[in-house]
Amino acid sequence: MTHNLDNLHARLAAVVDAIRAAESRHGRPAGAVSLLAVSKTHPSQAIRAAAAAGQRLFGENYLQEALAKMAELADLDLEWHFIGPLQSNKTRPVAEHFAWVHSVDRLKLAERLSAQRPAGLPPLNVCLQVNISAEASKSGCSLDELPTLARAVAALPGLRLRGLMAIPAPAEGLEQARAPFRRLREALEALNAEGLALDTLSMGMSDDLEAAIAEGATLVRVGSAIFGARQTKPEHLPQSRRAAE
Ligand SMILES: *Cc1c(COP(=O)(O)O)cnc(C)c1O
Repeated sequence: MTHNLDNLHARLAAVVDAIRAAESRHGRPAGAVSLLAVSKTHPSQAIRAAAAAGQRLFGENYLQEALAKMAELADLDLEWHFIGPLQSNKTRPVAEHFAWVHSVDRLKLAERLSAQRPAGLPPLNVCLQVNISAEASKSGCSLDELPTLARAVAALPGLRLRGLMAIPAPAEGLEQARAPFRRLREALEALNAEGLALDTLSMGMSDDLEAAIAEGATLVRVGSAIFGARQTKPEHLPQSRRAAE
């Protein structure tokens, strides 16, 4: 795979411009939406180039790959977010090395992350992943399960529950794309009305940024629009959950 790092600067700038434009079009305050650059499958030089252009938040899906890149980039002040499916026997390195996890969808995972978060670090920031389009094949808790899960996770000492994350089913057009993001925002508002203090809606990717920002995203997770298309390598395919529990 070739990476044109000059091109990367232009792509990153275009994504930041698109976020600022969407904020302004949809009545959001300038700077209300943070950009998480999703660097999975891309080499650490690409992350280094994005960091040199001012990007600080990076998202990774695959644990071994992420740990290797973190070691290569230890000289930089980056904030690492784990956004991929997480097996409960793999929580310890996530608790030790990441600032955020966006993919918590069951209490057992949260309890392990909380117990394994090193005492010298601030609490691990967590978003609960919601299966907002109710797809049988997708990770994420259901909207029905969410209130009970959120209350339990909010009580864990090693975690700081920040908000909700979702990956909706593909949609056609802005209006259709907005509907699942609206449901996620309403779920967050309902939890806050019950006494939680969630401040993060992690929603929107390369192809549905605008719909997510229109519905209140505070963080968009953008990969291919910054780093280019990914090649799916065998080692990047999701691992079976066979040994997970
Ligand atoms: C890969 C990935 C993204 C980025 O997707 P793009 O379409 O490349 O922007 C965002 N969120 C999650 C959870 C991902 O796995």
